[in-house]
Amino acid sequence: MTDCLFCRIIRGDIPTKKVYEDEHIFAFEDIDPKAPTHVLVIPKKHIRGLKEATPEDAEIIGRCHLTAAKIARDRGIEDGYRTVLNVGPRSGQSVFHLHVHLVGGRDLGWPPG
Ligand code: AMP
Ligand code: ZN
Repeated sequence: MTDCLFCRIIRGDIPTKKVYEDEHIFAFEDIDPKAPTHVLVIPKKHIRGLKEATPEDAEIIGRCHLTAAKIARDRGIEDGYRTVLNVGPRSGQSVFHLHVHLVGGRDLGWPPG
């Protein structure tokens, strides 16, 4: 999508600190990190959010989480991290291109706020 912030990041129109990229996935540092590790893992396919995803998106959503797990392993934070999908405005979703937050590197409270 031309006017989607994360599609523009994937295209390289907006600079980011890239963490990982393959044919299907792009991952980059969150611009406003909430923890020592705060990476956004996104599908290259534009999907508006989890509630708009369809069964054909199941594999790519799984790949996003497995990529987050790989990044967490590489960074040595497997003692505790979260993969978070905010869904809808009341959850705090502000960018409407599906993204998995990988948050870790500190103690994480439960329940989340
Ligand atoms: P959400 O609130 O779940 O929609 O998450 C959107 C995330 O995108 C927030 O954590 C923002 O800090 C992050 N974000 C917004 N713009 C950028 C950007 N240009 N580069 C990196 N992260 C961004
Ligand atoms: Zn997009």
